[in-house]
Amino acid sequence: MKTILNFFKKIINPARNEAEADAAPAISAPAVRIYARAEHNISRSQISENALKVLYRLQKSGFQAYLVGGCVRDLLLGREPKDFDVVTDADPEQIRKIFRNCRIIGRRFRLAHVHFGREIIEVATFRGAGDAQDDKQVLNKEGRLLRDNVYGTIEEDVWRRDFTVNALYYNIKDFSVVDYTGGMDDHKTGTLRLIGDPETRFREDPVRMLRAVRFAVKLGFNLDTACERPIHDLAELLYGIPAARLYDEALKLFLSGYALQTFEMLRHYGLFQILFPDTESSLAVEEDGFPKLFLIKALENSDNRIAEGKTVTAYFLWSAFLWEPVAIRAKEKIARGMAESMAYQEAANEVISRQNTSTSLPRHITMSMREVWTLQPKFNMRIGSRPSRLLTHPRFRAAYDFLVLRAETGGADPEVAAWWGQYQAADETEQRKMTRPPRGAQVGKAKRKRTYRKKTASQDKGI
Ligand code: ATP
Ligand code: MG
Repeated sequence: MKTILNFFKKIINPARNEAEADAAPAISAPAVRIYARAEHNISRSQISENALKVLYRLQKSGFQAYLVGGCVRDLLLGREPKDFDVVTDADPEQIRKIFRNCRIIGRRFRLAHVHFGREIIEVATFRGAGDAQDDKQVLNKEGRLLRDNVYGTIEEDVWRRDFTVNALYYNIKDFSVVDYTGGMDDHKTGTLRLIGDPETRFREDPVRMLRAVRFAVKLGFNLDTACERPIHDLAELLYGIPAARLYDEALKLFLSGYALQTFEMLRHYGLFQILFPDTESSLAVEEDGFPKLFLIKALENSDNRIAEGKTVTAYFLWSAFLWEPVAIRAKEKIARGMAESMAYQEAANEVISRQNTSTSLPRHITMSMREVWTLQPKFNMRIGSRPSRLLTHPRFRAAYDFLVLRAETGGADPEVAAWWGQYQAADETEQRKMTRPPRGAQVGKAKRKRTYRKKTASQDKGI
C-alpha cells in the first residue's frame, strides 16, 4: 500500500514527492465512484460479441474483467468504438490457459491478443505502480519510462493511464462504470485532463502530447489549461522518441478524418515542426500564399474522403506534406543548372531521408511517394502514346488527384488537369483523337515539325 500511495504522490505532486521522499504519505488515494447500470448509457448491445465472450469467460474462471480505455470513452459518447480493450487481474500465462485462440505479444508490456477471425480483443493485465528503482520499471534521465512491466491491481492500473476520460472501467460483474479520477465529470464537461501532474506525465511519455491533440480534436473536447500549458516547452522531448513510434502516432493523427484541425492544433502547440520539420520551414516560404493553401486543401480533401467512406492512403498525405519541400529544393537545383527530372529525383531523395529521421516511413510508402511526385511533370505530355501508358500506371489515380489539388491551388495548369479528367472518361476513339498531334493553320510550323518528329520516333520504336 505504501508503494501505491508514494506513486500517487509522485504523479500528483512531484516537487513535494522529492522533498518528502521518505516521509509518511500525506495524501491518500482519491475515492472511487461507481456508476451503477442505471446511471450511465452503456448497453451490452453496443459491445462486440467477442469482447463480451472474453469478459464472461474471464469472469467464469474467477478473474476480474473490465472494458477499459477508448471503448468505454466512445460508448459513453454514443460512438461506435474502434476496438475493445479488456483488462483483468489474470496474468498473460493465465489468460493463455483460458483462451485457445490467444497470442502473447509486446515487450514493453506483455499482453494477450485473443483472435476471433479478423477481430482481435486485446487483454491486458492490470499494470502495477512499481517503483522507479525497480528493475522492471526504468526511467531515463528526462523522466521517460523505458520499461514498465509490473503487474498490479485496478487501483494501481488506473494511475498509469493518460487522460481521465481514458481511465474508466466497465465492470462485467455488475455492468457498472468504475471511476477513480473524475473521468465521468470530465466527460460531461468535455474536458481532456491528464491524470496527475501534467509535466511529469508528459516527461514520462512525451507521445502523450500528441495523444492530447488527437483526442481533443477527435472528441471535440477542450484540453484542460494545466495540461496545455507545458506542451510548448516540452515539445522537444519528442526528439527522443523512436521515429517508428512517431510514424504510427502520426498515422493515427492524420488518418482519422480530422487531419486539418489536427494540423492546426499541432502547429499551435509547436508539435508539428517535430513531426515534419521540412514542411514547417516550407510553410514560412511565401509564394503568393499558394504552398500553404495546397497542403490545407490536401488535408481537407482527405477528411472529406474519409467522411464519404472512401480510402485515404498514408503515402498520399505524406506526398502532400512534403511536396513543397521537394519543389523548393528541386527549383534550387534547377537554378544551379541541373536537369528538371534529375532535380526532382534528388530533391525527393533528400527530403525523404530527412523525413525518415522524424517519422520513419516504410519503404513501400516512400516508393509510392516518389511515384506520385515524378508523375507530375508527365501530365504535361499529352501527345502520342504517353497518355495511354500513364493511364495504366498503378499510381495514376493518386498522381491525378494530386495534380487536381495542385491545379486548384495555383500550383499546376487547371487546363491540364481538366484535360486529364476528360481523357479518362473518353472512349478509345475519343482518346486517340485527343492525343493526336495538332494540325491546321493555327499550329506553328516549327512546333508541328517537332511534335511530328517525336511521334514518328516513338512509332519507330513500336511504343
Ligand atoms: P483509440 O480510440 O484511438 O484507440 P484509445 O484511448 O483506445 O483510443 P489506445 O492507444 O488504444 O487509445 O490505448 C488504450 C488505452 O491505454 C488508453 O485509453 C489509455 O487508457 C491507455 N494508454 C494508451 N497509451 C497510453 C500512454 N501513452 N500513456 C498512458 N496511457 C496510455
Ligand atoms: Mg484503442
